[in-house]
Amino acid sequence: MDLCDQNLKKIKDEVIVCRKCSLSQTRKCPVIGEGNHRAKIMFIGEAPGRQEDATGRPFCGAAGNILTEILEAIGLKRADVYIANILKCRPPNNRNPLSQEITACVPYLDRQIEIINPSIICPMGNFAANYLIRKYHLEDQAIQNGKIPGITLLKARVFKISNLDGSSLKIIPLYHPAVATYNINLKPTLIKDYRIIIQSLSD
Ligand code: URA
Ligand code: SF4
Repeated sequence: MDLCDQNLKKIKDEVIVCRKCSLSQTRKCPVIGEGNHRAKIMFIGEAPGRQEDATGRPFCGAAGNILTEILEAIGLKRADVYIANILKCRPPNNRNPLSQEITACVPYLDRQIEIINPSIICPMGNFAANYLIRKYHLEDQAIQNGKIPGITLLKARVFKISNLDGSSLKIIPLYHPAVATYNINLKPTLIKDYRIIIQSLSD
């Protein structure tokens, strides 16, 4: 195990015993994240659903099948990327995350991002997009009519952050794949949007 693997393992050990919010009382398995520890592309969802809570694996239910399908359609494999969530534990009945739960949980995600050090991060859906826009101070670029817009206006935009060492990080908000479980007609839109990731890899 190299340092990156060891540091991710340490997060896993901490999350398994985490009691920082009340979701620890209702979860079965926390869902830490999965994929390539040296991934260039990281996907961030909202929170585990029923299937994820039962298995401990991110995006392994209906939304996950759609995510896998979209990734394959644009030429990526799940094993090449890293997939995590804003919350590591399932909210009861898949209700929206509460702001105090997000505040309690995101230090784990922040550490995952720092260790994996991807060049592209794709927050999927409103909660993840909102968190990353604030984390990277992108509010001024994102703002429309005085507020940060919802995912419909943010999706497929590329927010570029230049680091002092000349490297760059791109934040690309996308629709959450679950939208296609409610409306199957959105799948081609999702595939088209997610292709922006591939274009952004080379520029
Ligand atoms: N939805 C999410 O946001 N994350 C998962 O892991 C599964 C469904
Ligand atoms: Fe801890 Fe996050 Fe689970 Fe809350 S959701 S108990 S903060 S790991």
